[in-house]
Formats: sequence, structure tokens, C-alpha cells
Amino acid sequence: MSAAVEVVRASKSFGDRRVLDDVSLSVPAGRVVAIIGPSGSGKSTLLRAVNHLEELDGGHVEVGGELVGVRRHRGVLREVAEPVVLRQRRRIGFVFQSFNLFGHLTALENVAAAPAATGLLSRAEARQRAAALLARVGLAAHTGAYPRQLSGGQAQRVAIARALAMDPEVILFDEPTSALDPELVGEVLEVIRDLAASGTTLVIVTHEIAFAREVADTVVFLDAGRVVESGPPSAVLDAPQHPRTRDFLRRVR
Ligand code: ADP
Ligand code: MG
Repeated sequence: MSAAVEVVRASKSFGDRRVLDDVSLSVPAGRVVAIIGPSGSGKSTLLRAVNHLEELDGGHVEVGGELVGVRRHRGVLREVAEPVVLRQRRRIGFVFQSFNLFGHLTALENVAAAPAATGLLSRAEARQRAAALLARVGLAAHTGAYPRQLSGGQAQRVAIARALAMDPEVILFDEPTSALDPELVGEVLEVIRDLAASGTTLVIVTHEIAFAREVADTVVFLDAGRVVESGPPSAVLDAPQHPRTRDFLRRVR
């Protein structure tokens, strides 16, 4: 099976602090990978490296078989020009903890903006598609709402519809429910659950262990910038081999 995302021996330091240490990760097309681990273990940095919001010191990332942010020149990886990175980033959806919606645009305009601006769709097509996607995430009645008029759960569902609008090869989620009031978590997990069931390739950083068990094909435990353990949820979550995994799971449960 072809990998939608391949992270190969990724390393990254900030100053003399090594935040990613030889991290490799393969996400087959149509599968769901959940990344868990303590605060500061490098989870966000790893996700950001996938769409080249972070530049790696070593290793590389491929999405859909194409190197992201770099090209090989006489055996050496070199940065590519910014327009190329921007084009590549459009194939990678990113849903942040803090929604990051455009405050001056309605829900519909938020979702339609990128496909219209990039010429993927005409303005009319982009709006039509945005309306369909908002219906899919349960927001048909809120297409004209501005972000400030939405609950956190609704705003995050708009952000997911916006990620889907570009028809990405993979969607990356960085703690998509961490900023939500507890009673709003379920409606967002429900949308992610539907995406997983429909065969969308997903990488999800989450502290929702029960959700990871339910939705992920593979769980990756990251600690101090290293993959300590990875495998099916039944192995990593229910029968962890490494003491650090056991210790982490004891603390978050
Ligand atoms: P996580 O998402 O697992 O909590 P992060 O990837 O955000 O971890 O961060 C890992 C480590 O890298 C943390 O110690 C954090 O302080 C550090 N870090 C992240 N981004 C930067 C940055 N831009 N500059 C310096 N240090 C950073
Ligand atoms: Mg983080």
C-alpha cells in the first residue's frame, strides 16, 4: 500500500535542544495515525514539519510520494522556493487547536476562500462546495455566521470543513479538542470519526486516549522527540511495552 505521508529520520533542534530525534513515521493512504505523548515531546513540531512550517535539520518528509519543502540536488536536499512550498501545503489540511478562522469572513467564506483564491474552483463552485462541506459537518444553518457568533465546537467544525475544501491528501490535527469546553468535544470528535470512516487519511495529535483507541489504525507514542513505541491501539494503549508509555498512560487516564 502506498504511503500518503512518509517522515524519514526527521531531526530538529531549537538551539541546543533536540526536539525531534530521528523520527520516522509512515501513514498509509486512507489510514488514521494518532500521536500521543507528554507536553513538550515534539508532537506539534512533527506535524508542522509535515507541511514544512518547520524546516528539518535532518531527514525529510514526503506527501503523496513528493518531497515537501526540499528537492534533491546531486544527492543533497535543498530548500525549494516559497511558491512551491505553498503549492505543496495546499495538499495538506491542517486543523489547529485554536481554529485560526478568518474573523472578518463568514463560515461559508472561510471554507470557500482557499479553493477560490488558488483557482482550484470558480468562486461560485467554491461557495457551492463550501455549503456542502458545512452541511457535512452539521453546520448547514450557520453558513452566514461569523466566527465570533459560533461556539468553539462549531468554529472547529468550520475549520475542518475548510481543510476539506482543498481536497487534501491528508489532514493533520493538532489537539483539535484541547481548547473546547468539555460538552463541545463530542461534536468535533464525531466529525473526525466520520472522516476516518470515509477513508480520509488523518494524523491526529490528541490527549483523548479513548478516541485514539477507537479511531486510529496506529498509535505513536512520542517522548523527548523520539518514537518510543508505535503500533495498533490494542498494543500501544492496552499492552504498552515501554515503561515510559505505561507511565504516560497512567498519568493521562
Ligand atoms: P508538544 O506539541 O509535544 O507539546 P512541541 O513540538 O510544541 O511539543 O515543542 C517541543 C519542544 O520544542 C518544547 O520544549 C518547546 O518549548 C520547543 N519549541 C517548540 N517550538 C519552538 C520554537 N519555535 N523555538 C524554540 N523552542 C521551540
Ligand atoms: Mg503541541
